[in-house]
Amino acid sequence: GLDGPTDDDGDLKDRPPVVTIMGHVDHGKTSLLDALRQTDVVGGEAGGITQHIGAYQVKLKSGDKITFLDTPGHAAFSAMRARGANVTDIVIVVVAVDDGVMPQTIEAIKHAKAADAPIIIAVNKCDKVDADPTKVLTELLQHDIQVEAMGGDVQAINVSALKKTGLDELTEAISMQAELLELKANPDREADGIVIESKLDKGRGPVATVIVQRGTLKRGDILVAGGQWGKVRALVNERGQQMKEAGPTVPAEVLGLDGAPSPGDPFVVVDNEARAREITEYRQRMLKDKAASAPGA
Ligand code: GDP
Repeated sequence: GLDGPTDDDGDLKDRPPVVTIMGHVDHGKTSLLDALRQTDVVGGEAGGITQHIGAYQVKLKSGDKITFLDTPGHAAFSAMRARGANVTDIVIVVVAVDDGVMPQTIEAIKHAKAADAPIIIAVNKCDKVDADPTKVLTELLQHDIQVEAMGGDVQAINVSALKKTGLDELTEAISMQAELLELKANPDREADGIVIESKLDKGRGPVATVIVQRGTLKRGDILVAGGQWGKVRALVNERGQQMKEAGPTVPAEVLGLDGAPSPGDPFVVVDNEARAREITEYRQRMLKDKAASAPGA
């Protein structure tokens, strides 16, 4: 099938976690994503992460790597999950200390639980005078989130995205959680993974941002994503730099597809162009049939 060979345990190597940040509007998701970008030791040298491609990977001082989905909002997460594309390993739920648990906080907790992804609580805006994180932690108890300070096993970290405090503690908490999950993938096989964003770029043509889940994606590979295929002409990272290849959980912009796939589409690398054509023609036919048999068509 399209899944390719299954991997033997011996082929599996540790891989970085994929992390999504969720929470109520204005609680600081975007600010926290921006602050976390700056924990990247590589970006510090190369001038930082400059492009928004839908995801970025940071390398911490410890050498650990973390991939963040840079698509705040629950809609993208739900859309991917609805399609069975479970790309997220860990969910950070951001709660603003002055606002506390709000409807979208509860929604975020539900999403994470439904996806079976462990939660880390980031109590944000702790720079505010009168900030009382304990109040937030108590509120969370009513939503089945029992943090360590309350005798449970959910990690909660006080942060300020604005003042950039608590970020080392937060990334450490992620690394610790990732270790517990024993995340592994075989890097030595044809790549597969998920499309997280795509667009039609005026100059570059169709551009899809993918996250590799297994294997290593290479320039020149023949890639099928949803109803689209193409020979990978270039792989570009979040710094706008060309990469020769992208291993497990490395986000990459893929150039060379014949059209823009949809977010949440799985992608696979196949042996040859004939196979790619066969698969995409079949998929496009299926989509047409589905549309033709839809009510009202
Ligand atoms: P989002 O809607 O969850 O993405 O929230 P934003 O990141 O856009 O932040 C909403 C507002 O809260 C903005 O005005 C931010 O400047 C502010 N904000 C975010 N983080 C902090 C923080 O740590 N401390 C303070 N005082 N304000 C913050």
